[in-house]
Amino acid sequence: MTEKKEKCGLFAARSSSGADVVPMTLQGLEAQQHRGQESWGISVPGKPVFTRMGLVTGWHLEADTLSSYSGKSAIGHVRYSTTGRSVIENAQPIQVGSEFSIAHNGTLVNADEISASVAPEFGRPCESDTLAAGLRLQHFLQEGRGMFEAFKSLSVELVGAYCFAILDSSGMIYVARDPRGYRPLCLGWQEDSGTFVAASESCALASVGADFIRDVEPGEIVRFGDAGVESIRFAPRMATAYCSFEYTYFAHPSSRLNGVSVYEARKKVGRVLAKKSQTTGDVVIPVPDSARPSALGFALESGIPMDEGLMKDRYGRKGSIRSFIEPEQPRREEVVRRIIPIKETIKGRDVIVIDDSVVRGTSSRIIIDSLRRAGAKSVKMAVTFPPIRHPCFMGIDFPSREELLAHEVARDDDTTSETASKVANAIGADEFFYNDIEGLGEAIGLPRDSLCFACVNGDYSKLSTTLPVKAQEQAKT
Ligand code: SF4
Repeated sequence: MTEKKEKCGLFAARSSSGADVVPMTLQGLEAQQHRGQESWGISVPGKPVFTRMGLVTGWHLEADTLSSYSGKSAIGHVRYSTTGRSVIENAQPIQVGSEFSIAHNGTLVNADEISASVAPEFGRPCESDTLAAGLRLQHFLQEGRGMFEAFKSLSVELVGAYCFAILDSSGMIYVARDPRGYRPLCLGWQEDSGTFVAASESCALASVGADFIRDVEPGEIVRFGDAGVESIRFAPRMATAYCSFEYTYFAHPSSRLNGVSVYEARKKVGRVLAKKSQTTGDVVIPVPDSARPSALGFALESGIPMDEGLMKDRYGRKGSIRSFIEPEQPRREEVVRRIIPIKETIKGRDVIVIDDSVVRGTSSRIIIDSLRRAGAKSVKMAVTFPPIRHPCFMGIDFPSREELLAHEVARDDDTTSETASKVANAIGADEFFYNDIEGLGEAIGLPRDSLCFACVNGDYSKLSTTLPVKAQEQAKT
């Protein structure tokens, strides 16, 4: 089966002054390490693609090899995948013939169909959705179309969420964002080196000293070339479906996505949750790190003080790793077990712990157990993302429906508060509060119908009027 789970970070740079952009690309990838921690890679014209497993910071160990990589154009990628697929062969960017290299953030739901369509030319079905799309793009280019036209033809065949960075053999860079805009992508300008940059998140622009220009529009492909920046729409404007999960968990708090500060959205969602729950307690504690701004918002709204009660063991082997995007459950749990309680904050107190989401519930159980062992009088949990009951086909690796706690313990027609009380029992919390779609939409501050909540409400209509059969089966089970 074609690998369809690519939830990653992209970086691309082209200097009009001829400056070497490889150091900047490595830095831009490091700043997006939270989007993918399994493998990474860069591509410059005229050199084999450079890919490695592990964190981008590992590049320091390869400085000698990388010293031969330089150029005024480069693209890079950090990857987050699933069990069994976290192998160097699937690291990106991927070279496609001699024409271009390609990197992808998203998921192509119809990867099997695209793979089958390229199989006769490729000699076999390809295992990666990115490679399948790349080969299809190569097919259109070989028909004599330019990249803009070729991409337009490709886009008609793609179902799913995608942002692509493409580097052609002449050093031109193309970045494209799917017509619904599920995943973020933005453009920037680094004045000192005269470099146009593109990144999944604006935090990467800031890390390389680039000014944010704008988000890439959904349905737009942008070229960085000799003539500067040019772009076309490859698809008509349609209602967007920005991923709401990016705002509560996935993106870096310093980023702005689609005009919204992630930090401010997280703080506001904490306020919304405090208003909705109307609960009481002695102390508000964040689950580190993504829930910290929300805990602050909760504390400000409720008047209950926030304190640090759970600290990540930053110096351990897994210190910088995020649990959710670890590819295997035991590895996720290991990360959570490295969150150490501070007894002085917890002992004898009614604790309200704030988290960004509950997926399987395993991490929540570990956290609650740890707070109780540290002497908490009671533990209430408030979660900023609504109940996740459905799979995501648009780039976030939620497990199958049966593994989703809200689906396992509650009925689809249960209200948010009915679901919350069943989840409280399942994870051992004294009380449990979920946000709902209205509350999350209000906190993000974008029109609700411009956001995606499909993992909450099962509405995939913006993805496709008809999901491929395999996806339909997954959505039902
Ligand atoms: S289904 Fe959920 S995780 Fe996936 S894109 Fe939509 S909001 Fe994001």
